[in-house]
Amino acid sequence: MFATLSDRLTATFKNLRGKGRLSEADIDATAREIRVALLEADVALPVVKDFIAAVKERARGAEVSEALNPAQQVIKIVNDELVQILGGETRRLRFAKQPPTVIMLAGLQGAGKTTLAGKLALWLKDQGKQPLLVASDLQRPNAVTQLQVVGERAGVPVWAPEPGNGVGDPVGVARSGVEQAKKQLHDVVIVDTAGRLGVDEEMMRQAADIRDAVSPDETLFVVDAMIGQDAVSTANAFVEGVGFDGVVLTKLDGDARGGAALSVASVTGRPVMFASAGEKLSDFDVFHPERMASRILDLGDMLTLIEQAEKAFDASQAEEMARKLQGKGGKDFTFDDFLQQMQAVKKMGSLKSLLGMLPGAGQMREALDSFDERELDRVQAIIHSMTPAERENPKIINGSRRARIAKGSGTQVSDINQLVERFFMARDMMSQAAKGGGMPGMPGGGG
Ligand code: GDP
Repeated sequence: MFATLSDRLTATFKNLRGKGRLSEADIDATAREIRVALLEADVALPVVKDFIAAVKERARGAEVSEALNPAQQVIKIVNDELVQILGGETRRLRFAKQPPTVIMLAGLQGAGKTTLAGKLALWLKDQGKQPLLVASDLQRPNAVTQLQVVGERAGVPVWAPEPGNGVGDPVGVARSGVEQAKKQLHDVVIVDTAGRLGVDEEMMRQAADIRDAVSPDETLFVVDAMIGQDAVSTANAFVEGVGFDGVVLTKLDGDARGGAALSVASVTGRPVMFASAGEKLSDFDVFHPERMASRILDLGDMLTLIEQAEKAFDASQAEEMARKLQGKGGKDFTFDDFLQQMQAVKKMGSLKSLLGMLPGAGQMREALDSFDERELDRVQAIIHSMTPAERENPKIINGSRRARIAKGSGTQVSDINQLVERFFMARDMMSQAAKGGGMPGMPGGGG
């Protein structure tokens, strides 16, 4: 995610390290480098200009600070300005006072609207809402079926045209969808609309008609972060043609540049509200400008990490683990517990993305890229090949048992040796930590 920009900016700050104070020449040189970094990452020119002007002005005015050295001051200024261009404060979804809340999705074909509809629906459902998905994209041949598939995966019903029920009339489908939601007491309606490959009058008119028919509480403009500079012009066309309240950036996983997408909020004056970084329904979250800025500047994103951990580990489970680890030198902690913790970690997302949120992760990008997520599956397969007695009391896993487990899990005896050794090490470490009053740690999965 924004790797190029991140690398360039952190390199710039390195040059400032060790400076006692910032001279005018330092500020100019730094501003120039930041400018190149932003332009190379595809950030739109007007945004770059404002950004650089603001950074220069603030750097000149920066007071001699006891707490921050010059490099840190510049990082802070750049961080603040990044937060600003991304929309400032986190903009949360606004729910209508009188349900249902109607959310309309607009954007080009392929932007990821249909996928996003499913992600948003699941996200809302997890918060106790009862969304209804409405298939008003009747342009793309498979769009309705595709929405039905994501709806099923999210466990959310889909309102789609049936013969005699407004076939070919997206406005009618949208209107009847909202009616249906009212009847069935759905509190949120998500209307998926048709896009085209490029900006097109007919598409805009249809989207505007749907908007007029359902009066959305929130219209979200969905934009593919990989389309580069076109993101800005497309966004402007949608502001004109339909109008929208917030931006959703998709495909952040696939992009190294993505600066154009970063410009959309600034250019349109509409905040980025959500971000999607993968094809799975769970690869989706509220967009926090502050956290994204931290990540771009490689300051880490501990808040997101903590939130994900809270979602994955329930409190009673954590307490139980702590109890097992505190007594008897951790001997009550079994392979089943190990497995359970590993599965909780997996629920938090891919290990690569988790490690990527640590401060300084930018420095170990190569190691992260070569990390094999399947290692976790392998460990899981090995544990599944153990008998209950072996999981309960790993000490009994002798040579012949190891050979059997290796055969059962399609691995080598050396893999079993490594895992058993690692299990005992992890248990010791976690048990030490738990005695110190800390939280139980997590077993390492990587080899
Ligand atoms: P629509 O035409 O706007 O409805 O777009 P779709 O939802 O059909 O998405 C187009 C393609 O992009 C599909 O193949 C999706 O699986 C893929 N896609 C959507 N969101 C993401 C994302 O965040 N990351 C990646 N890598 N692919 C995505």
